[in-house]
Amino acid sequence: MGTLLARAGGGAWAWAWAWRRAGGGERVAAAGRRLSSSPRSTLDVAVIGGGLVGLASARALVLRHPSLVFGVLEKEEELARHQSGHNSGVIHSGIYYTPGSLKAKLCVEGAALCYKYCDEKGIPYKLCGKLIVAVEHEEIPRLKALHERGLQNGVRGLKLITAKEIQAKEPYCRGLMALDSPYTGIVNYRQVALSYAKDFEAAGGTVFTDFEVEGMEMTKESPTGSKEGMKYPVVVRSSKGKEIHCRHIVSCAGLYSDRLSQISGCSSEPRIVPFRGDYLVLKPEKSYLVRGNIYPVPDPRFPFLGIHFTPRMDGSVWLGPNAVLAFKREGYKFYDFSFRDFIDATAYSGLWKLVCKNLSYGVGEMYRACFLKAQVKQLQKFIPEVTIDDILRGPSGVRAQALDSNGNLIDDFVFDGGTGDIGGRILHVRNAPSPAATSSLAIANMIADEVERRFEL
Ligand SMILES: Cc1cc2nc3c(=O)[nH]c(=O)nc-3n(C[C@H](O)[C@H](O)[C@H](O)COP(=O)(O)OP(=O)(O)OC[C@H]3O[C@@H](n4cnc5c(N)ncnc54)[C@H](O)[C@@H]3O)c2cc1C
Repeated sequence: MGTLLARAGGGAWAWAWAWRRAGGGERVAAAGRRLSSSPRSTLDVAVIGGGLVGLASARALVLRHPSLVFGVLEKEEELARHQSGHNSGVIHSGIYYTPGSLKAKLCVEGAALCYKYCDEKGIPYKLCGKLIVAVEHEEIPRLKALHERGLQNGVRGLKLITAKEIQAKEPYCRGLMALDSPYTGIVNYRQVALSYAKDFEAAGGTVFTDFEVEGMEMTKESPTGSKEGMKYPVVVRSSKGKEIHCRHIVSCAGLYSDRLSQISGCSSEPRIVPFRGDYLVLKPEKSYLVRGNIYPVPDPRFPFLGIHFTPRMDGSVWLGPNAVLAFKREGYKFYDFSFRDFIDATAYSGLWKLVCKNLSYGVGEMYRACFLKAQVKQLQKFIPEVTIDDILRGPSGVRAQALDSNGNLIDDFVFDGGTGDIGGRILHVRNAPSPAATSSLAIANMIADEVERRFEL
């Protein structure tokens, strides 16, 4: 059976759909609280990963197929514990992404779906807008190109504004020219994820927490006395020895997506490289310095958007995040280290190629991560009033960024299947970095379409 691979402009590996046809746990309430155990050992589709992408996909599937049995398998005791609970909280409008790419399409669609969903569910968000600000003359052509790109992607309300107009919108921000995106907003994505879980459970789905998928295998023969025979031929095992039998799997494991692929017998590439992003927080008495999102003109060599000023739903203002290579996939502190993750990363030739190509950038990010003064200098280009006394070190997040064997960071979302018995029954979300939170409902629709088509649900 075939493999379909497409490339988007900009040389990025845009998307791939590669395919060959081929227990029990504990339920968790949407609020993250445990409910009583409701063991169910067979599922039509098991979705691995209780982040935004897994939960939105599981929700879309159960809403379309209420007569089938779906489960979400999450290794942590609560949902949205990793990227979905550690991000900037921005509802992106879709400016940055290569026209025609999945990121461009699914971000624009996803933002609209996100606002509509929040309206329907009463989840608070703020349409506080965003300015992408050029502070150097050399950034102006790139800013104008971003404007064109945003228009091509169909982003609403975009316009270039002058230095005077910048000050009218953001009185403390300085800049030569800015791209004004009024359709950018902020939300608490953890709250959104828990709401997806609530919908999923209300429609009959089951969330199994504390279920770390450690192995998968095909059942060799029909269980004794089973009337259903080989209807659920894939056995998914947890690290604590629990088993779930299922027909199909959708893997949305974020920072572990390559490991899940390996476990299922599919390709370990592209590999995930964890990039930690540390935030600073403006002291509350200085929050007045920032009204909406203020972003730099991004460096086109990297998928990260650069250190930005982001208001939060609780009224605080976060500054950041930077992007430094992490030595642990879910390591949120500077000194977090995992021997396995370190060996895994350093044994991969793609990482060395990436490091060689971007050594000065990497060292610069590391330096700024260590010395607050250096970060403040960057921030002062936008808001000169910010001083080192106005900021505190804040939380961190870790991005799951896919990297190919040539040392290229993969820009677009990547979804693929695999070969072999299990490979023919599994769909992997391989690269879903920012703006996958914004895009989660649109990604979910696409995954549900593909699951229906490939698995003939
Ligand atoms: C610092 C930072 C800032 C960001 N800012 C934004 C933003 O402003 N706007 C935006 O749109 N996007 C943003 N993003 C991106 C966005 O948060 C992610 O793209 C999105 O949350 C990805 O969701 P996910 O479900 O794929 O991954 P995750 O949320 O990481 O979920 C994956 C889940 O899989 C589980 N899992 C892993 N392995 C196993 C296993 N073996 N068995 C069972 N479960 C397993 C994990 O525990 C985890 O819960 C940001 C990301 C970061 C890190």
